[in-house]
Amino acid sequence: MAEDFTIGIIGAGMGGLTAAAALQRAGIKARVYEQAAEFTRLGAGIQMSPNAMKVLRAIGLEPALREMAFQPQHQLSREWRSGEVNLDYPFGKVAEDKYGAPYLLMHRGDLHRLLNTTVREEDVLRSKRLVSFDQDGDGVTLRFADGSSDRVSAMVAADGTHSHVRELLFGAADPSYTGKVAYRTTFPAARLGGRSIDDCTKWWGADRHIVIYYTTHNRDEIYFVTSVPEPDWKTESWSATGDLEELRAAFSGFHPTVQMVLEACPQVHKWAILTREPMPAWSKGRVTLLGDACHPMTPWMAQGAATAMEDAAVLSRCVTEAGPRNIEQAFLTYESARKARTAEIQRVSHSNTWLHRSGNTDWVFGYDAWSAPLKEPEPV
Ligand code: FAD
Repeated sequence: MAEDFTIGIIGAGMGGLTAAAALQRAGIKARVYEQAAEFTRLGAGIQMSPNAMKVLRAIGLEPALREMAFQPQHQLSREWRSGEVNLDYPFGKVAEDKYGAPYLLMHRGDLHRLLNTTVREEDVLRSKRLVSFDQDGDGVTLRFADGSSDRVSAMVAADGTHSHVRELLFGAADPSYTGKVAYRTTFPAARLGGRSIDDCTKWWGADRHIVIYYTTHNRDEIYFVTSVPEPDWKTESWSATGDLEELRAAFSGFHPTVQMVLEACPQVHKWAILTREPMPAWSKGRVTLLGDACHPMTPWMAQGAATAMEDAAVLSRCVTEAGPRNIEQAFLTYESARKARTAEIQRVSHSNTWLHRSGNTDWVFGYDAWSAPLKEPEPV
Protein backbone atom coordinates (compact mmCIF):
# COMPACT_ATOMS: atom_id res chain seq x y z
CA MET A 1 0.00 0.00 0.00
CA ALA A 2 1.31 3.50 -0.82
CA GLU A 3 3.14 5.09 2.15
CA ASP A 4 0.81 8.04 2.63
CA PHE A 5 -2.47 6.32 1.75
CA THR A 6 -4.80 6.71 4.76
CA ILE A 7 -8.44 5.88 5.23
CA GLY A 8 -10.37 8.17 7.58
CA ILE A 9 -13.17 6.46 9.46
CA ILE A 10 -15.98 8.51 10.98
CA GLY A 11 -17.34 6.96 14.19
CA ALA A 12 -15.64 4.71 16.74
CA GLY A 13 -18.67 2.47 17.24
CA MET A 14 -18.94 -1.25 16.57
CA GLY A 15 -18.39 -0.97 12.81
CA GLY A 16 -15.85 1.87 12.75
CA LEU A 17 -13.45 0.28 15.21
CA THR A 18 -13.72 -3.12 13.53
CA ALA A 19 -13.03 -1.53 10.15
CA ALA A 20 -9.97 0.30 11.50
CA ALA A 21 -8.66 -2.90 13.07
CA ALA A 22 -9.21 -4.93 9.90
CA LEU A 23 -7.58 -2.31 7.65
CA GLN A 24 -4.58 -1.87 9.95
CA ARG A 25 -4.07 -5.62 10.08
CA ALA A 26 -4.04 -5.63 6.29
CA GLY A 27 -1.27 -3.01 6.36
CA ILE A 28 -3.50 -0.07 5.43
CA LYS A 29 -3.30 3.13 7.47
CA ALA A 30 -6.60 3.97 9.12
CA ARG A 31 -7.54 6.80 11.49
CA VAL A 32 -10.82 7.01 13.40
CA TYR A 33 -12.63 10.27 14.27
CA GLU A 34 -15.23 10.01 17.03
CA GLN A 35 -17.54 12.77 18.23
CA ALA A 36 -17.72 11.54 21.84
CA ALA A 37 -15.10 12.72 24.32
CA GLU A 38 -15.16 9.40 26.17
CA PHE A 39 -16.99 6.09 26.37
CA THR A 40 -19.09 4.85 29.26
CA ARG A 41 -20.36 1.36 30.14
CA LEU A 42 -24.12 1.91 29.78
CA GLY A 43 -26.54 -0.94 30.46
CA ALA A 44 -26.89 -2.97 27.30
CA GLY A 45 -26.11 -6.51 26.28
CA ILE A 46 -25.20 -7.68 22.83
CA GLN A 47 -25.30 -11.03 21.05
CA MET A 48 -22.31 -11.92 18.90
CA SER A 49 -23.31 -14.68 16.52
CA PRO A 50 -20.77 -16.94 14.74
CA ASN A 51 -20.68 -14.71 11.62
CA ALA A 52 -19.59 -11.79 13.83
CA MET A 53 -17.24 -13.94 15.88
CA LYS A 54 -15.33 -14.94 12.73
CA VAL A 55 -14.59 -11.26 12.12
CA LEU A 56 -13.64 -10.67 15.76
CA ARG A 57 -11.41 -13.74 15.72
CA ALA A 58 -9.33 -12.31 12.87
CA ILE A 59 -8.71 -9.07 14.77
CA GLY A 60 -7.54 -11.03 17.79
CA LEU A 61 -10.48 -10.74 20.19
CA GLU A 62 -11.73 -14.32 20.47
CA PRO A 63 -9.70 -15.42 23.54
CA ALA A 64 -10.67 -12.33 25.57
CA LEU A 65 -14.31 -12.65 24.55
CA ARG A 66 -14.47 -16.33 25.48
CA GLU A 67 -13.07 -15.47 28.88
CA MET A 68 -15.44 -12.60 29.49
CA ALA A 69 -18.69 -13.48 27.71
CA PHE A 70 -21.43 -16.01 28.37
CA GLN A 71 -21.82 -18.94 25.96
CA PRO A 72 -25.47 -20.05 26.06
CA GLN A 73 -26.24 -23.70 25.41
CA HIS A 74 -29.44 -22.77 23.63
CA GLN A 75 -32.00 -20.07 22.97
CA LEU A 76 -35.54 -20.75 24.04
CA SER A 77 -38.56 -19.28 22.33
CA ARG A 78 -41.38 -19.22 24.89
CA GLU A 79 -45.05 -18.26 24.96
CA TRP A 80 -45.49 -15.07 26.96
CA ARG A 81 -47.90 -16.33 29.60
CA SER A 82 -47.60 -20.11 29.83
CA GLY A 83 -43.87 -20.32 29.17
CA GLU A 84 -44.53 -23.14 26.70
CA VAL A 85 -41.43 -23.71 24.58
CA ASN A 86 -42.05 -23.20 20.84
CA LEU A 87 -38.43 -23.61 19.87
CA ASP A 88 -35.34 -24.86 21.71
CA TYR A 89 -32.55 -23.76 19.40
CA PRO A 90 -29.11 -25.23 20.13
CA PHE A 91 -26.19 -22.85 20.56
CA GLY A 92 -23.18 -23.98 22.67
CA LYS A 93 -20.97 -26.64 21.11
CA VAL A 94 -23.60 -27.63 18.53
CA ALA A 95 -23.63 -24.18 16.92
CA GLU A 96 -19.90 -23.80 17.30
CA ASP A 97 -19.17 -27.09 15.52
CA LYS A 98 -21.66 -26.30 12.79
CA TYR A 99 -20.62 -22.71 12.09
CA GLY A 100 -16.97 -22.76 13.10
CA ALA A 101 -17.26 -20.05 15.76
CA PRO A 102 -19.12 -19.64 19.06
CA TYR A 103 -22.34 -17.76 19.80
CA LEU A 104 -21.55 -15.43 22.72
CA LEU A 105 -23.57 -13.01 24.85
CA MET A 106 -21.89 -10.06 26.53
CA HIS A 107 -22.13 -6.51 27.80
CA ARG A 108 -21.98 -4.08 24.92
CA GLY A 109 -19.62 -1.77 26.85
CA ASP A 110 -17.19 -4.63 27.48
CA LEU A 111 -17.16 -5.51 23.78
CA HIS A 112 -16.61 -1.87 22.87
CA ARG A 113 -13.71 -1.58 25.35
CA LEU A 114 -12.05 -4.63 23.78
CA LEU A 115 -12.64 -3.34 20.25
CA ASN A 116 -10.81 -0.17 21.28
CA THR A 117 -7.71 -2.18 22.09
CA THR A 118 -7.54 -3.52 18.53
CA VAL A 119 -6.74 -0.10 17.02
CA ARG A 120 -3.56 1.85 17.76
CA GLU A 121 -4.42 4.36 20.46
CA GLU A 122 -3.04 7.35 18.56
CA ASP A 123 -5.31 6.48 15.63
CA VAL A 124 -8.58 6.99 17.53
CA LEU A 125 -9.23 10.72 17.83
CA ARG A 126 -12.02 11.76 20.19
CA SER A 127 -14.13 14.95 20.39
CA LYS A 128 -14.01 15.08 16.59
CA ARG A 129 -17.51 15.58 15.24
CA LEU A 130 -17.45 15.66 11.47
CA VAL A 131 -19.54 18.53 10.13
CA SER A 132 -18.58 18.59 6.45
CA PHE A 133 -16.19 17.22 3.87
CA ASP A 134 -15.02 17.80 0.29
CA GLN A 135 -13.55 15.25 -2.03
CA ASP A 136 -11.43 15.60 -5.16
CA GLY A 137 -9.35 13.29 -7.32
CA ASP A 138 -6.66 12.85 -4.64
CA GLY A 139 -8.47 12.60 -1.36
CA VAL A 140 -11.02 13.91 1.10
CA THR A 141 -10.82 16.95 3.37
CA LEU A 142 -12.63 16.45 6.67
CA ARG A 143 -13.91 19.36 8.78
CA PHE A 144 -14.82 19.06 12.42
CA ALA A 145 -17.05 20.96 14.85
CA ASP A 146 -13.99 22.11 16.86
CA GLY A 147 -12.76 24.04 13.82
CA SER A 148 -10.00 21.60 12.91
CA SER A 149 -9.64 19.76 9.62
CA ASP A 150 -7.72 16.83 8.26
CA ARG A 151 -6.92 15.31 4.89
CA VAL A 152 -7.25 11.59 4.13
CA SER A 153 -7.08 9.53 0.95
CA ALA A 154 -10.61 8.14 1.35
CA MET A 155 -13.37 8.11 3.94
CA VAL A 156 -15.56 5.41 5.46
CA ALA A 157 -18.55 6.74 7.40
CA ALA A 158 -19.53 4.44 10.25
CA ASP A 159 -21.48 7.20 11.95
CA GLY A 160 -24.60 5.25 12.86
CA THR A 161 -28.33 5.38 12.14
CA HIS A 162 -28.44 9.18 11.95
CA SER A 163 -25.38 9.30 9.71
CA HIS A 164 -24.52 12.90 8.84
CA VAL A 165 -22.30 11.70 5.99
CA ARG A 166 -25.19 9.73 4.52
CA GLU A 167 -27.23 12.92 4.52
CA LEU A 168 -24.44 14.94 2.88
CA LEU A 169 -23.94 12.26 0.22
CA PHE A 170 -27.50 11.27 -0.61
CA GLY A 171 -29.76 13.90 0.97
CA ALA A 172 -31.74 14.03 4.19
CA ALA A 173 -34.25 11.28 4.94
CA ASP A 174 -35.23 10.40 8.48
CA PRO A 175 -35.26 6.73 9.46
CA SER A 176 -38.76 5.48 10.15
CA TYR A 177 -39.96 4.84 13.68
CA THR A 178 -41.37 1.31 14.10
CA GLY A 179 -43.83 2.43 16.77
CA LYS A 180 -41.96 0.21 19.26
CA VAL A 181 -39.55 1.05 22.04
CA ALA A 182 -36.80 -1.03 23.59
CA TYR A 183 -36.46 -0.88 27.35
CA ARG A 184 -33.09 -2.33 28.23
CA THR A 185 -30.75 -2.66 31.13
CA THR A 186 -28.11 -4.83 32.78
CA PHE A 187 -28.04 -5.53 36.52
CA PRO A 188 -26.31 -7.89 38.98
CA ALA A 189 -27.77 -11.41 38.94
CA ALA A 190 -27.51 -11.36 42.74
CA ARG A 191 -30.61 -9.15 42.72
CA LEU A 192 -32.62 -12.28 41.84
CA GLY A 193 -31.91 -13.50 45.39
CA GLY A 194 -30.53 -16.90 44.48
CA ARG A 195 -33.06 -17.59 41.71
CA SER A 196 -31.82 -18.11 38.14
CA ILE A 197 -32.96 -17.63 34.55
CA ASP A 198 -32.61 -19.73 31.39
CA ASP A 199 -29.41 -19.15 29.39
CA CYS A 200 -31.22 -17.01 26.82
CA THR A 201 -34.96 -16.73 26.27
CA LYS A 202 -37.22 -14.68 24.08
CA TRP A 203 -40.73 -14.43 25.55
CA TRP A 204 -43.19 -13.76 22.73
CA GLY A 205 -46.44 -11.85 23.29
CA ALA A 206 -48.87 -10.79 20.56
CA ASP A 207 -47.49 -7.27 20.05
CA ARG A 208 -44.49 -7.22 22.41
CA HIS A 209 -41.61 -9.36 23.53
CA ILE A 210 -38.75 -9.50 25.97
CA VAL A 211 -35.36 -11.18 25.59
CA ILE A 212 -33.47 -12.10 28.78
CA TYR A 213 -29.93 -13.48 29.08
CA TYR A 214 -26.68 -13.54 31.06
CA THR A 215 -23.87 -11.31 29.82
CA THR A 216 -20.88 -12.69 31.71
CA HIS A 217 -18.96 -15.93 31.77
CA ASN A 218 -19.72 -16.43 35.46
CA ARG A 219 -23.41 -15.52 35.12
CA ASP A 220 -23.24 -12.61 37.52
CA GLU A 221 -24.98 -10.07 35.27
CA ILE A 222 -28.38 -10.19 33.60
CA TYR A 223 -29.63 -8.24 30.60
CA PHE A 224 -33.04 -7.79 29.12
CA VAL A 225 -34.30 -5.92 26.11
CA THR A 226 -37.95 -5.45 25.19
CA SER A 227 -40.01 -4.41 22.24
CA VAL A 228 -43.19 -2.62 23.35
CA PRO A 229 -45.66 -0.57 21.28
CA GLU A 230 -45.56 3.14 22.01
CA PRO A 231 -46.72 5.26 19.07
CA ASP A 232 -45.47 8.61 20.35
CA TRP A 233 -41.98 8.01 21.75
CA LYS A 234 -39.30 9.10 19.28
CA THR A 235 -36.26 9.56 21.52
CA GLU A 236 -33.21 7.48 20.67
CA SER A 237 -30.63 8.32 23.28
CA TRP A 238 -28.29 6.31 25.45
CA SER A 239 -29.13 8.51 28.41
CA ALA A 240 -32.96 8.41 28.17
CA THR A 241 -34.36 6.46 31.08
CA GLY A 242 -37.65 4.60 31.19
CA ASP A 243 -40.30 4.44 33.88
CA LEU A 244 -40.02 1.11 35.72
CA GLU A 245 -43.68 1.06 36.67
CA GLU A 246 -44.75 1.59 33.05
CA LEU A 247 -42.43 -1.19 31.95
CA ARG A 248 -43.72 -3.62 34.59
CA ALA A 249 -47.31 -2.75 33.67
CA ALA A 250 -46.56 -3.45 29.99
CA PHE A 251 -45.56 -7.02 30.94
CA SER A 252 -48.03 -7.55 33.77
CA GLY A 253 -49.67 -10.65 32.28
CA PHE A 254 -46.39 -12.31 31.37
CA HIS A 255 -44.98 -15.48 32.97
CA PRO A 256 -43.74 -15.23 36.62
CA THR A 257 -40.09 -15.50 35.48
CA VAL A 258 -40.47 -12.32 33.44
CA GLN A 259 -42.15 -10.58 36.39
CA MET A 260 -39.32 -11.72 38.66
CA VAL A 261 -36.68 -10.20 36.38
CA LEU A 262 -38.58 -6.92 35.97
CA GLU A 263 -39.14 -6.69 39.73
CA ALA A 264 -35.43 -7.18 40.38
CA CYS A 265 -34.25 -4.58 37.90
CA PRO A 266 -33.28 -1.23 39.47
CA GLN A 267 -33.51 1.08 36.44
CA VAL A 268 -33.95 0.99 32.67
CA HIS A 269 -33.03 2.87 29.53
CA LYS A 270 -35.63 3.46 26.85
CA TRP A 271 -34.76 3.60 23.17
CA ALA A 272 -36.94 4.19 20.10
CA ILE A 273 -36.56 1.39 17.54
CA LEU A 274 -35.84 2.82 14.10
CA THR A 275 -35.35 1.29 10.71
CA ARG A 276 -34.77 2.30 7.11
CA GLU A 277 -35.45 0.82 3.70
CA PRO A 278 -32.37 -0.64 1.95
CA MET A 279 -30.42 2.05 0.08
CA PRO A 280 -29.69 1.72 -3.67
CA ALA A 281 -26.12 3.03 -3.26
CA TRP A 282 -23.66 3.44 -0.39
CA SER A 283 -20.66 5.07 -2.06
CA LYS A 284 -19.77 8.21 -4.01
CA GLY A 285 -16.22 8.53 -5.24
CA ARG A 286 -13.78 8.20 -2.34
CA VAL A 287 -16.48 8.04 0.32
CA THR A 288 -18.53 5.07 1.44
CA LEU A 289 -20.85 4.12 4.30
CA LEU A 290 -20.70 1.18 6.69
CA GLY A 291 -22.97 -0.40 9.32
CA ASP A 292 -26.06 1.41 10.59
CA ALA A 293 -25.16 4.40 8.41
CA CYS A 294 -26.24 2.40 5.35
CA HIS A 295 -28.35 -0.51 6.67
CA PRO A 296 -29.92 0.29 10.05
CA MET A 297 -32.25 -2.45 11.18
CA THR A 298 -34.52 -3.39 14.02
CA PRO A 299 -32.67 -5.22 16.83
CA TRP A 300 -35.07 -8.19 16.68
CA MET A 301 -32.62 -10.49 14.92
CA ALA A 302 -29.54 -9.24 16.84
CA GLN A 303 -27.62 -8.63 13.62
CA GLY A 304 -26.98 -4.86 13.44
CA ALA A 305 -23.48 -4.86 14.88
CA ALA A 306 -22.75 -8.28 13.40
CA THR A 307 -23.43 -7.03 9.87
CA ALA A 308 -21.41 -3.85 10.52
CA MET A 309 -18.48 -6.11 11.45
CA GLU A 310 -18.99 -8.20 8.31
CA ASP A 311 -18.94 -4.95 6.31
CA ALA A 312 -15.62 -4.08 7.94
CA ALA A 313 -13.98 -7.37 6.95
CA VAL A 314 -15.27 -7.26 3.37
CA LEU A 315 -14.24 -3.61 3.01
CA SER A 316 -10.68 -4.39 4.10
CA ARG A 317 -10.51 -7.22 1.54
CA CYS A 318 -11.78 -4.98 -1.27
CA VAL A 319 -9.32 -2.18 -0.47
CA THR A 320 -6.44 -4.66 -0.27
CA GLU A 321 -7.33 -6.28 -3.59
CA ALA A 322 -7.95 -3.07 -5.52
CA GLY A 323 -5.03 -1.09 -4.09
CA PRO A 324 -4.89 2.66 -3.34
CA ARG A 325 -5.06 3.75 -6.97
CA ASN A 326 -8.43 2.06 -7.33
CA ILE A 327 -10.13 3.06 -4.12
CA GLU A 328 -13.36 4.12 -5.87
CA GLN A 329 -13.55 0.70 -7.50
CA ALA A 330 -12.84 -0.94 -4.14
CA PHE A 331 -15.79 0.86 -2.56
CA LEU A 332 -18.11 -0.17 -5.40
CA THR A 333 -17.02 -3.80 -5.11
CA TYR A 334 -17.56 -3.61 -1.34
CA GLU A 335 -21.11 -2.31 -1.59
CA SER A 336 -22.02 -4.73 -4.33
CA ALA A 337 -20.74 -7.64 -2.22
CA ARG A 338 -22.75 -6.49 0.80
CA LYS A 339 -26.02 -4.92 -0.34
CA ALA A 340 -28.14 -7.99 -1.06
CA ARG A 341 -27.22 -9.74 2.18
CA THR A 342 -27.78 -6.73 4.42
CA ALA A 343 -31.08 -5.88 2.69
CA GLU A 344 -32.34 -9.41 3.30
CA ILE A 345 -31.31 -9.29 6.95
CA GLN A 346 -33.03 -5.90 7.33
CA ARG A 347 -36.19 -7.44 5.86
CA VAL A 348 -36.19 -10.59 7.99
CA SER A 349 -35.33 -8.65 11.12
CA HIS A 350 -38.23 -6.30 10.51
CA SER A 351 -40.67 -9.22 10.20
CA ASN A 352 -39.70 -10.29 13.76
CA THR A 353 -40.08 -13.99 13.04
CA TRP A 354 -36.44 -15.02 13.53
CA LEU A 355 -36.17 -18.13 15.74
CA HIS A 356 -39.80 -17.89 16.81
CA ARG A 357 -41.13 -21.35 15.94
CA SER A 358 -38.49 -22.70 13.58
CA GLY A 359 -35.60 -21.42 11.61
CA ASN A 360 -32.74 -22.09 9.29
CA THR A 361 -29.90 -19.96 10.60
CA ASP A 362 -27.25 -21.27 8.19
CA TRP A 363 -27.42 -18.34 5.77
CA VAL A 364 -26.79 -15.87 8.60
CA PHE A 365 -24.45 -17.68 11.01
CA GLY A 366 -22.61 -19.67 8.32
CA TYR A 367 -21.42 -16.54 6.47
CA ASP A 368 -17.68 -15.92 6.57
CA ALA A 369 -16.83 -12.34 5.63
CA TRP A 370 -13.20 -13.33 5.02
CA SER A 371 -14.03 -15.77 2.23
CA ALA A 372 -17.47 -14.75 0.88
CA PRO A 373 -17.30 -14.03 -2.87
CA LEU A 374 -16.72 -10.41 -3.86
CA LYS A 375 -19.16 -9.58 -6.63
CA GLU A 376 -18.24 -7.18 -9.38
CA PRO A 377 -20.28 -3.95 -9.26
CA GLU A 378 -23.21 -3.78 -11.67
CA PRO A 379 -22.68 -1.51 -14.69
CA VAL A 380 -24.21 1.94 -14.12
P1 FAD B 1 -22.71 2.79 16.13
O1 FAD B 1 -22.24 1.65 16.95
O2 FAD B 1 -23.99 3.49 16.48
O3 FAD B 1 -21.52 3.85 16.10
C1 FAD B 1 -21.63 5.10 15.46
C2 FAD B 1 -20.54 6.00 16.06
O4 FAD B 1 -20.40 7.15 15.26
C3 FAD B 1 -20.85 6.47 17.47
O5 FAD B 1 -19.74 6.24 18.31
C4 FAD B 1 -21.15 7.95 17.28
O6 FAD B 1 -20.82 8.73 18.43
C5 FAD B 1 -20.26 8.29 16.10
N1 FAD B 1 -20.68 9.45 15.32
C6 FAD B 1 -21.92 9.74 14.87
N2 FAD B 1 -21.90 10.88 14.14
C7 FAD B 1 -20.61 11.32 14.12
C8 FAD B 1 -19.96 12.45 13.53
N3 FAD B 1 -20.63 13.37 12.79
N4 FAD B 1 -18.62 12.59 13.71
C9 FAD B 1 -17.91 11.68 14.45
N5 FAD B 1 -18.49 10.60 15.05
C10 FAD B 1 -19.82 10.42 14.87
N6 FAD B 1 -26.57 -5.80 17.09
C11 FAD B 1 -26.05 -7.06 17.19
O7 FAD B 1 -25.24 -7.47 16.34
N7 FAD B 1 -26.40 -7.89 18.24
C12 FAD B 1 -27.28 -7.49 19.21
O8 FAD B 1 -27.57 -8.24 20.15
C13 FAD B 1 -27.86 -6.18 19.12
N8 FAD B 1 -28.75 -5.75 20.03
C14 FAD B 1 -29.30 -4.48 19.91
C15 FAD B 1 -30.29 -4.06 20.83
C16 FAD B 1 -30.88 -2.80 20.70
C17 FAD B 1 -31.96 -2.38 21.64
C18 FAD B 1 -30.46 -1.93 19.65
C19 FAD B 1 -31.07 -0.57 19.48
C20 FAD B 1 -29.49 -2.35 18.72
C21 FAD B 1 -28.92 -3.63 18.84
N9 FAD B 1 -27.97 -4.09 17.92
C22 FAD B 1 -27.46 -5.36 18.02
C23 FAD B 1 -27.57 -3.23 16.78
C24 FAD B 1 -26.25 -2.55 17.00
O9 FAD B 1 -26.21 -1.88 18.24
C25 FAD B 1 -25.96 -1.55 15.87
O10 FAD B 1 -26.33 -2.11 14.66
C26 FAD B 1 -24.47 -1.22 15.85
O11 FAD B 1 -24.11 -0.49 16.99
C27 FAD B 1 -24.12 -0.45 14.58
O12 FAD B 1 -22.74 -0.13 14.59
P2 FAD B 1 -22.22 1.17 13.83
O13 FAD B 1 -20.76 1.19 14.03
O14 FAD B 1 -22.78 1.21 12.47
O15 FAD B 1 -22.89 2.38 14.61
